[in-house]
Amino acid sequence: MSIAEITMSNNSQAVRPLNEAESQNGNGVDRPPKHATSQQNRESNEVDLRAIESAVKTILKAVGEDPERDGLLDTPARVARMYAEMFSGLRANPGRHLQVTFPEEYNEVVLVRDIEFCSMCEHHLLPFRGKAHVAYIPEGRVTGLSKLARVVEEVARRPQVQERMTQTIADLIEGELGATAVAVVVEAEHSCMSIRGIRKAGSSTITSAMRGGFRHNVSSRAEILSLIHGH
Ligand SMILES: [Zn+2]
Repeated sequence: MSIAEITMSNNSQAVRPLNEAESQNGNGVDRPPKHATSQQNRESNEVDLRAIESAVKTILKAVGEDPERDGLLDTPARVARMYAEMFSGLRANPGRHLQVTFPEEYNEVVLVRDIEFCSMCEHHLLPFRGKAHVAYIPEGRVTGLSKLARVVEEVARRPQVQERMTQTIADLIEGELGATAVAVVVEAEHSCMSIRGIRKAGSSTITSAMRGGFRHNVSSRAEILSLIHGH
């Protein structure tokens, strides 16, 4: 999934309704916002764009800006649409991509490396971006390789911490595919570390989630990590 594709996706595609299962398992967001009455809000599936706009105006005023000056006039609406896109994963059910599988007597490693993503740190609402590497050992059924990238892309579009994102992806693959082993390694640079606070540009954070055979078998884990890191 290239960054270009991400920025080109429009809101109506990116923002999907919660399905029933998701509402029940608590992965979703709060139910439709109270003020969602405008045509725009209906089009973006209940993301309360108006509420975001007024919050952005409030922030601009609070930092000493004039939200009515020319350059800032369209900023609140633009930011509202951006958040609807960045958080579209809250209203999606990424597991659905893994529900189409093909019977295949292949029970060796399937690894997709270097899946680019951009997510949002829930502590600062600043982006963290990087690459995910996803591997599994099938048990009689495989999924399309691009589906693994779609899962990463959708899970990324939520406010979260990298640790939880990594685990969520692993749990989805283990749960939906019934894979005997799953490994997810995520490496990312966090804006909240590079542009503010400690200001360490270029540092990367690596997290991993191992399931099944990759968790319990030391040599399988060593093998998958060397495949992921390419040596
Ligand atoms: Zn942060």
